[in-house]
This record gives sequence, C-alpha cells and structure tokens, in this order.
Amino acid sequence: MSRSQIIAACLLIVATYLVVVAASRPGPLLVEDCFGRAIGARGLTLVDWDGYIANPAIRFDVVAPAAASYPARLVIRGDHPRLAFDLPSTAGAGGPTKEIRLARAGRTSIRVAIFPDRDGRDEDHALTIDLEDAGGRRRSARVPLHLVDQDREEEADVRPRRLPIVVDFSQDRTGFFEDEARRRVARRAAADWSYFLDGEGAGTVAAGDESTLIWNPDGFRSTRTVKNESPFTGYLLYAYGIDGPDLRSGGEPSPTSGFQTRGADVLPLRRSGGYEVEIKGNYNREGWRADLSDDEWWKATNLRDDRADLDSIAHHEIGHALIFNRLNPRFGDAKQSQSATLRDDRLRAYLGKDPTIDGSDHLPGTVDPASLRGAFGNEYHGKMPRGRWLITKADLIAARAVGYDLRATSAFIPLTLETAELPEGRLGGRYTTILRASGGVPAYQFQVVEGSLPAGLSLDDFSGEIRGVPTRPGHSEFTVRVRDSEESAQAEEVLQHYRLTIAAP
Ligand SMILES: [Zn+2]
Repeated sequence: MSRSQIIAACLLIVATYLVVVAASRPGPLLVEDCFGRAIGARGLTLVDWDGYIANPAIRFDVVAPAAASYPARLVIRGDHPRLAFDLPSTAGAGGPTKEIRLARAGRTSIRVAIFPDRDGRDEDHALTIDLEDAGGRRRSARVPLHLVDQDREEEADVRPRRLPIVVDFSQDRTGFFEDEARRRVARRAAADWSYFLDGEGAGTVAAGDESTLIWNPDGFRSTRTVKNESPFTGYLLYAYGIDGPDLRSGGEPSPTSGFQTRGADVLPLRRSGGYEVEIKGNYNREGWRADLSDDEWWKATNLRDDRADLDSIAHHEIGHALIFNRLNPRFGDAKQSQSATLRDDRLRAYLGKDPTIDGSDHLPGTVDPASLRGAFGNEYHGKMPRGRWLITKADLIAARAVGYDLRATSAFIPLTLETAELPEGRLGGRYTTILRASGGVPAYQFQVVEGSLPAGLSLDDFSGEIRGVPTRPGHSEFTVRVRDSEESAQAEEVLQHYRLTIAAP
C-alpha cells in the first residue's frame, strides 16, 4: 500500500467514524404548542382559573423525527403532583407520567393541566420528554411550564356578591358532622359553588317561612319536615348524616321549598334542600377521609373499595341540591327517574350538543371540553386521570341554563385585545410597546394578518411586544390577530386594526 493509499484509508476511517458519531448523537426533540411554535425555550403556559374549578387541559405536540428508527418509546413526565396528562397516563406524588409507543415518525398531541389550588400565586414547573428509538438512541427535551394563577384576593373583588349558601348542621342526628374537619369540607364545598353564582339581589326568607324535607337517619326511607329557625338569604342547605341500607349519600332541593328571588323576580330555582352523607362510606363501609390536600387529589379515586374523599362527594351532592334536580323547573324536560335533555343555546354551543340527563340527574357521557374531565355525574369517565371530583365549566353553564346568573370569573371572560392604540415612534429611535391580551385561555398568539408593521419593527408572537428601530418615517396600517389556547368549539380569535406613525426626527 502506497503512502497516499495509507493516508486515503486513514481519512476514510476518520470520515466513517465522524458519520457514525453524528448519527448516534441525535438532534434535540422538537416540542410545539397548539400554534405550532417551538416551546423548548419559551415554555408552555398553564392556567389555574379563579375559583375551585377544573382547569383547562392545554395541548402540546411532540414531533418524532424521521431520522429515528421505529418503533420508539416516548415518555413524558411532569415534576409536580398537581400536574396531569390526558389518559392513558398516571398521576402521583412525583408528578404525572405518560408513555406512548410510536410506530412511526410524526406528531403526537398531548394535553396537560394543573389541578386547582386555593392561592393566587403563579408557579413554575417543567416537563421532561424522552424519546428512545428502536436502536436505543435517545432524544430528549425539557419544557418549562408557566402557571398563571388567576385566583383573586377576595378583598379586591369588585364583582357582584356571591350567592349566600347557609349550611345548617342542626338536623344531623348521626353525629357525623360533630367532627369539625367534616363541617369545614361541607362549608367549603358550598362556598366553592357559591363563588361562581351571582347572589346580587338575592331575597331573604323570614324565620319559619321555609319548609324543608329532611331524610331521617334510616336513609331515604322516611322523612320529616323542618322550618327555618332563623331568617336566611339565598339558599338554605341542611347537611346531615344518614345511616341507611343503600350505602349511598344524597343531595336535592326540597319538594316543599319555595323559590329563590332576586329583587321582585321569582327565579325557577328552589331555595332550600339537603346534603346527606352516608356515615358508613361511599358504596362501602370504609368510612370517609376529610384530610386530602390538593397535592393529593389523585388519591381520591372514590372507587368502591376505597375510603372516599368527602370533598368530592360534598361537591357532587351540593351540586344536586343547587342545580341538578328536576325540582328546578328548567332542569330537564321529563319526569324524575326518566332520562331527559337539558336544552340551552350556550350549553349546546360549548358542548356541541344537548347533554342527556339520566334518571339520577347526572350528565352521562358529557366530558367538559376545556378540562377534559367528566361533567356532573360523569366524574369517573373523563379523559383525564381519576381523582378528586371538581366543578367543571360545563357544570356552571348548566347552572346558568337552570336559572342562575354567573359571576364574571376567569373561565368565562372572553378573549380580548385590550390595546386600542399604539404610541408614535421616531425614525432611528428604539421603539417598544406591548399589545395586551386578556381572557380566554392563555397563552396567546399575536400575528399581523393584514398590512405590515413599519420597516425595522417586528412583533413577538408569544408576548405581543412590538420592538425595533424604525428605518422609514410615515404611517403604517395593519391588522393584528390574537388567538388563545382554547380548542373547543368556542375557540375564539380577535382582530384589531392599528395605525402606527413613525415621525421624522
Ligand atoms: Zn349524583
């Protein structure tokens, strides 16, 4: 072998080595938001709507590259126990995990949501995403999660006041509610519903004027009737234990109840009822737990062999007492125990259909489009992992359909582009201004869809910031489109026309 042949052979070996190294060191994994924007650096925005409500599930896409070999294994992990992915996935103390087998390259959509908490603090979390291909090569990505917490300080609240719900334990003959922790859960669940219900102008009922049917401790066998000892405003809810053979709890308006009033108007809503807890347990004799924190929401499966989460059942049964019952005349179009339909334009627009009501006044088959959780009575069957039951946006739109007015909470604030006018710029001077969007489901996407910005300026599609150094004087006209991350049938976009002047120096 000549000297030049030896050199050529060496170069070939080196070149082959470099090619092999390059192939075995795969590039980064591309992760995009619902607008198709790469989010490895900017991250994904989650929202905790104000009030204790099921938060929206936000879509992101993992793009599995053609250069990988398949089948590949995709594993996504979150780093906080309140995070959850759409099913199939697991939730737990260490955060959620979702594992997907990919047969080929391409895009996989995943949804992530945060379970609500009761403070107003924003949070930062992260996702780690690993793709291991058939050749054992790994690609990974880390995506920051920014949580926008929209819970508000009550003192700063300028909205109409919430519907007062008086929780009365005086009819408990079982001793169940002698435990202060259980009383606290009942009061808090009632307050969670009332947070969303407008109580402005709610009528007051004089002592002795309201008659309410109470189930005796034998559990849905015999009743007695009580009169309110004190005046009350809004809704009077008797919370008490029962010790019956059916091992089930209950909640309902009273058939002897009067109707709620607002000013001079009589509303199609009963004004008193009961919330009964089966003291032995939820379809079992395992008892109750009143101690689960929001971080432990995933422990509350409420399955037949579990000690049930009192918070879940309190929300559900109080929902029956307030909203989901045929004694509220607008709820359903058939007699009790038959299936019926809840007809309402806004509910239909949100769900894409009229929800069916079953004989138990539940909404079987209805999944809340924003949170992907099961709506009222369908709590075991959503598209997110089982856990503590929550009020959903669908439930609240149903409450409005039945006759309640809703307070303006963040789940119901439409997407708005607040910036109406832009400050003037100066030729050669640094320009910066921010288009402010609010409402809807953040994050937002800002785009110029017609006309163009002044030369030298650009629009950040994540933040809405317009910045740069103008290079030509004159007037520019353009239209900005803002979209939010809501993906239901009600996905919105807002268009705003702007005129921006660049003055000569
Ligand atoms: Zn029920």
